[in-house]
Amino acid sequence: MSEAPHDVLPDGLVDVLVIGAGPTGLACAIAAQNAGLRVVLVDKGCLTNSLFHYPAHMTFFTTPELLEIGNMPFSSPNQKPTRSEALEYYRKVAEHYRLDIRQYQNVDRIGGSDGDFTVHTTDQFGRQLTHRARKLIVSTGYYDLPNYLGIPGEDLPKVKHYYHEPHPFFAQDVLVIGGKNSAAIAALDLWRHGARVTLVHRGAELHRHIKYWIKPDIENRIKNGEITAHLSSTVGEITEDAVTLLTPGGPKVIPNQFVFALTGYHPDFGFIESLGVRLDKSNARCPICDPATHESNVPGIYLAGVIVAGERTNEIFIENGRFHGDLIAKDLAAKMN
Ligand SMILES: Cc1cc2nc3c(=O)[nH]c(=O)nc-3n(C[C@H](O)[C@H](O)[C@H](O)COP(=O)(O)OP(=O)(O)OC[C@H]3O[C@@H](n4cnc5c(N)ncnc54)[C@H](O)[C@@H]3O)c2cc1C
Repeated sequence: MSEAPHDVLPDGLVDVLVIGAGPTGLACAIAAQNAGLRVVLVDKGCLTNSLFHYPAHMTFFTTPELLEIGNMPFSSPNQKPTRSEALEYYRKVAEHYRLDIRQYQNVDRIGGSDGDFTVHTTDQFGRQLTHRARKLIVSTGYYDLPNYLGIPGEDLPKVKHYYHEPHPFFAQDVLVIGGKNSAAIAALDLWRHGARVTLVHRGAELHRHIKYWIKPDIENRIKNGEITAHLSSTVGEITEDAVTLLTPGGPKVIPNQFVFALTGYHPDFGFIESLGVRLDKSNARCPICDPATHESNVPGIYLAGVIVAGERTNEIFIENGRFHGDLIAKDLAAKMN
């Protein structure tokens, strides 16, 4: 077990506070700790909260070594690890590096400036807390905010933007909206567990980025009529018992009990801007940061992980976001030690 410098200065000031304990935030905290800095992480949910909320029986797209952080091997008997293996791996990493993680605290706002930031949080009981840090790393991901469709009925309780597991949808008419990996995987899983599945996608064909081992599976289910697909189609309205699809052949009303709108997610741009970080409106709302150090336009605030790519959430994954911590720690070490 390695030793971590967990002491906090008498005035409660730590060197670095990392907002978001996802894979990127953990990698950043480890790199900063290895540089001799005192680090605290804060997450609104549990450790790797986004991964925890992924489909219960999912398999990652990448091989285990590409998910590794902190030079700790991730071994799996599978070619591609499962969600529960990944959760266990990141728990072990957090334990090994004795990371100081304050779970179930939402970061609401930031005060102060470089050298002495105040981080205001609310815990699960609604209590207000504050932390002080010389530098901040923001790695808040994108999975908390779904891309809403803005259609009538989207606020009904039967409409879900996250897919967990198939059992509750046995023998139900389920509509899956979307044409990428998440929609294809959910449609297949639901169908394999006894749901009557309709897939609707605005494109003329399913997205070309669907993984090569998933694409033939979904295409064959559609070809065989096991999953009904409406391409070049959108959803006009959702009611308690039906959905109206706008298809090239005109509106179609079909019976429906549940809808999975799996149309992607986006970073909390409002939160990022509230820190004073500017967004590049001409470039997918990428937050302004120096690519060499990841320091934003606000001195002392660093950005890491998928948020760096703005709306292009398919550009930065665990695979590449895990290296942001090394760049940030190098800059922090040069400025703080
Ligand atoms: C189904 C699915 C499968 C995927 N498979 C792969 C794969 O095989 N390989 C791969 O490389 N990538 C994969 N990805 C993408 C990858 O999981 C994400 O890109 C990655 O999690 C981003 O890491 P992150 O640390 O930047 O963000 P996240 O993992 O989203 O972590 C952000 C953290 O910040 C916390 N947070 C947010 N706001 C606040 C706040 N205000 N206060 C406190 N805490 C906050 C969240 O609770 C969360 O824990 C997959 C994604 C999905 C949805």
